[in-house]
Amino acid sequence: MQTYKAPLNDMKFILEDFLNSGTSNFLLKESELEIEDFNFILEEASKFCEEILLPLNQSGDKEGCTFDNGIVTTPQGFKDAYKKFVENGWQSAALDKKYGGQGLPYIFNVFFDEMITSSNMGFGNYPGLTGNAFEAINKSASEELKKLYLPKMATGEWTGTMNLTEPQCGTDLGLSKAMASPQKDGSYKLTGTKIFITGGEQDLSENIIHLVLARTPGAPKGIKGISLFLVPKVIPNRDGLLGERNSLACGSIEDKMGIKSSSTCVMHYNDAKSWIVGDLHKGMKAMFIMMNGARLMVGVQGLGMSEVSYQSALYYAKERLQGRSLSGPKNPEIAADPIIVHPDVRKNLLKMKALNEGIRGLISFTALQVDVAKVENDKYKRQRADDWVALMTPVIKAFSTDVGSESANLAVQIYGGHGFIKDHGVEQFVRDARIAQLYEGTNGIQALDFVGRKLPMHNGRLLKSFFHLVKEYIEENAFNYNLKENMPHLMKSFGRLQQTTNFLASKGLYDPEEGAGPSTDYLKMFALTSLGYIWVRYIDIANKKMNDDPKGFYKAKIATGEYFLKKVLPETGSLMSSILSGAKSYTKYENEYFESSFN
Ligand SMILES: Cc1cc2nc3c(=O)[nH]c(=O)nc-3n(C[C@H](O)[C@H](O)[C@H](O)COP(=O)(O)OP(=O)(O)OC[C@H]3O[C@@H](n4cnc5c(N)ncnc54)[C@H](O)[C@@H]3O)c2cc1C
Repeated sequence: MQTYKAPLNDMKFILEDFLNSGTSNFLLKESELEIEDFNFILEEASKFCEEILLPLNQSGDKEGCTFDNGIVTTPQGFKDAYKKFVENGWQSAALDKKYGGQGLPYIFNVFFDEMITSSNMGFGNYPGLTGNAFEAINKSASEELKKLYLPKMATGEWTGTMNLTEPQCGTDLGLSKAMASPQKDGSYKLTGTKIFITGGEQDLSENIIHLVLARTPGAPKGIKGISLFLVPKVIPNRDGLLGERNSLACGSIEDKMGIKSSSTCVMHYNDAKSWIVGDLHKGMKAMFIMMNGARLMVGVQGLGMSEVSYQSALYYAKERLQGRSLSGPKNPEIAADPIIVHPDVRKNLLKMKALNEGIRGLISFTALQVDVAKVENDKYKRQRADDWVALMTPVIKAFSTDVGSESANLAVQIYGGHGFIKDHGVEQFVRDARIAQLYEGTNGIQALDFVGRKLPMHNGRLLKSFFHLVKEYIEENAFNYNLKENMPHLMKSFGRLQQTTNFLASKGLYDPEEGAGPSTDYLKMFALTSLGYIWVRYIDIANKKMNDDPKGFYKAKIATGEYFLKKVLPETGSLMSSILSGAKSYTKYENEYFESSFN
């Protein structure tokens, strides 16, 4: 059974204890809210997810989107749910006040998106992309475009999409062929076909604002000749009312493995009226604002899928009666004990819980830095926050979505054969979670971005500031009694990470394949160590709060953290061994050897 209750206790812990009063005061000052108001909004958001979105998750998966002659219909109930989403003002919550948003801190978005994903990942893509398109237009478009488009996107009456992919152009965006020709009035006419466009067509909103990458005549080849264009489905008049229909259409939708309620469209643009966003040939810069936001949000999707997988598996593990506990029957009066008594089941459940709570902390701390980078007056602090977000974006995207998929599979394992049966709803998690490892740049590409771009960026400044933060914490807490047992685990992994980083940096200088080859292993090692740092901090906080712990929340925090540090974090050891053995065993493997077992 798909079971979900928003993890509000953990979110409140992060906000009030982990991000500490100084930083959360900073957040709340910006949004002019008291902590009680913020918690109230979170509770209302959780009700929307649990009561409206969750009940549509399995039916939406079963029915999927349908296509008929250019018109896309979302599954039953989605239109109503979206109407309520808009009427309740949820789309505008964390958007810029200047253009109709409510200015809540970005961390609200992160918590809300996690809850939406856990309840209904397919639904979440529609508002999620609108928010990211809003940010890209807000950062790069002319004032005229902002005034015309952003207020309606803030309410959610108009949605947004992101158009990069073409049949011949996936990861390598320099291969894009879509062409935009300038017109005398300053607009462009855009022609081309984009594929896999999420929400490219749907029946939820009255207008769809497409952000489309295209070349202009005579533009330089490759990525340097790409510009970004705003292409509305219906062209608004100057007063904002809807005018004529633009020359673009949805040609078909994809029949997919998962997120079936999220429409994935082939979009044809045929001399469609368009307006440039940002500077000519600087489309990637403008689009990266959307992509970076979207990458963080996809990381949040990984967490959301992992959390609902965990909760659904936990529910089943407490209900399903099979076998007897090895430490003696727990239910001697009935035929068998619940499967939660079995060590293997417990281990799987705890792995999911420990990873979820650690990732939630990492994402929340990063979300806080997004806001700091936006509004902090001190230039140095702004830069530090920006550095953190740039460094962690590929880590969060890749690691969290890998965990989302792993947890969905662990949930099926805990359900046994019943997990393979559709009615129970957990096989849907496996299918839905899988896409997050692929879109917004595959996880392999995130690892390359991390190792090839983020680590050497500004002479290693981003990485150095992370190392400095962890090192300083370890030194400051050398005699912290609360961490006596736990700090050594973090120190060991941190040492391994430093050693492996030096190895990669020196090898990669001479042979790019030696740097790129182990990048996914390195990213995982980095993510686990970051979570180790977060868990040690959680344990310290929880120890200090133990005197006021009526529900055992802090005790559970400490026990979960100890599990993470002892049982999950040591994987950094095997990752290090693999990385230090070099990449030649696969980079120099002869191509014909791949076929040796069958040709
Ligand atoms: C359901 C769904 C929704 C989507 N939504 C959108 C959307 O809204 N907008 C949009 O524009 N796109 C969207 N996409 C497209 C998605 O972002 C791409 O599928 C993804 O970026 C990968 O591109 P590709 O599928 O062409 O794979 P390819 O680029 O062909 O890559 C195939 C494999 O090769 C690897 N690879 C490729 N190049 C390299 C390299 N240089 N080094 C190492 N490995 C490499 C990749 O990691 C991958 O494993 C969506 C896709 C799906 C399935």
